[in-house]
Amino acid sequence: MSAKRHLTRGLRFRLTAGYALLFALLLVGTAALFRERLAYTLNSEAHDLLEQEWAAMKGYLHIERLPARGHAAEHEPCPPFKATWEYDKVDPDEDFAVERLRRVYVLTDAKGCVMEVSTIYGSIGIEQPKEIEAAIRGGQPVWKRSASPHGIPYLIRAGVVYDDKHHSPFYVAVGRPMDEGEKILKRYTWMYAGLIPFSLLCGCLLGWFLTGRVLRPVMQVARTAQSITGSNLSLRIPTRAAGDELDYLILTFNRMIERLENSFQQIRQFSTDVSHELRTPITAIRGQLEVALFTAKTVDQYRDATLNSLQDIERLSQIVRALLLLSQAESGQLALQKTRLDLSPVVRDIVDQFQIPAEGARVELSSDLPPECAAEVDRVQLERMLSNLLSNALKFTPAGGRVHVALRSLPEAIEIAVEDTGCGIPEEHIPHIFERFYRVPAQETCATAEPGLGLGLSFVAWIAKAHGGTIRVDSAPGKGTRFTISLPPAMAEPAPMEPVPTGAASGAVLG
Ligand code: ADP
Repeated sequence: MSAKRHLTRGLRFRLTAGYALLFALLLVGTAALFRERLAYTLNSEAHDLLEQEWAAMKGYLHIERLPARGHAAEHEPCPPFKATWEYDKVDPDEDFAVERLRRVYVLTDAKGCVMEVSTIYGSIGIEQPKEIEAAIRGGQPVWKRSASPHGIPYLIRAGVVYDDKHHSPFYVAVGRPMDEGEKILKRYTWMYAGLIPFSLLCGCLLGWFLTGRVLRPVMQVARTAQSITGSNLSLRIPTRAAGDELDYLILTFNRMIERLENSFQQIRQFSTDVSHELRTPITAIRGQLEVALFTAKTVDQYRDATLNSLQDIERLSQIVRALLLLSQAESGQLALQKTRLDLSPVVRDIVDQFQIPAEGARVELSSDLPPECAAEVDRVQLERMLSNLLSNALKFTPAGGRVHVALRSLPEAIEIAVEDTGCGIPEEHIPHIFERFYRVPAQETCATAEPGLGLGLSFVAWIAKAHGGTIRVDSAPGKGTRFTISLPPAMAEPAPMEPVPTGAASGAVLG
């Protein structure tokens, strides 16, 4: 491949990059999701544990009113209540549980007067009396997060408890450190952050390797395709029998090469045919001229040689004209000039033109035409088509035979049929008669028929196809032939049809 291939524009690079990007997005997305889930689980676990501790605390903590101590009690900062923790002090488990409860703990009265507070809670900061009063009024559990001066996060659960007589409300808050959970989260985040580039690198390498493997056969196909030229079109790209998209591509490619090979073959055949066709009259002209130059003595002999040469030159120019027209038609240079017209008079004119040659050949020429038949056609090409068909029919029908032209306007098509009672075409030749220069060998049909160029029917087929129509041949050797052309019906249009001047037919016979 001569074109320079840029690495970054290559399919392999782009596929790998796309794959890596997708991989990265997936990794980051999953990591974020998992982190979220982990944080949620840790948090709800801490909530549950604290809720249990709160319930346990309510069982151990008892608040009772102190007996009145007279005058001095009025100067006490907090009301005369005493909090006691009642549990089995001999049981190490209970002892440990209560100790843990009291590590982060505060007890105040309804006005916010602190009755008991742990050192840790003190360092976190006791709630303002207003907050405490609001919590007591609300009567609902209060959850909050605070941090110690050392930055350790705490989850606090606060609420209302009552003294043993159930007369006065008190504010109690217990808490537990959340640093373990935070640590787990951090560890997880770091671990994943370290893992992502590593996984990404592995993903890129794997993607590069896999796309390389997938694309290797594509490169093989490209290399094989490169080695195929006009001279070795018989080469085919071997399929891998994997039945995948690539095999389908190879198959499509091979079919394309096959079509190219056929086209090349046709072109070669055509060149050979043209050379052959041109050589015959040229050799004849040369012969005539040699006769004139070396052996002719009388004026009549000169005249004969010149006349014969002229006939051959006419045949030569006929071939060249026909070839030019055909190549113009097939290369799309001959655009159809379609107009809406009445086909009946057009067909009638052509049939009338062929009456004299038909009489000369002692063939009965008849037609069956409707009074009117609207069609959208290129008039010149249609006349050319009909002239070729009629000329063939007369040429291949011996004296005493009949040629009949029928025009029918059906709802789905317009049909033009040219039928003769001539010598017919043997079945094996029918698929080839529309090929250029194809002529059925004279001994197999009409030995008397004058050989044509073998180009007329190619042109007839092109005209039918260019009009969006079809052509059908029914033939029986010794009985006759019928060519049926089906053209698409004219669109319903009220516009007046183009008047057809009589005797204006101009279809040149090519065959
Ligand atoms: P040409 O008539 O110049 O030979 P065409 O392309 O018109 O070339 O026709 C190709 C061949 O088809 C003819 O050579 C002839 O053998 C056969 N053919 C065409 N029309 C008829 C017909 N009406 N009856 C019998 N054979 C026909």
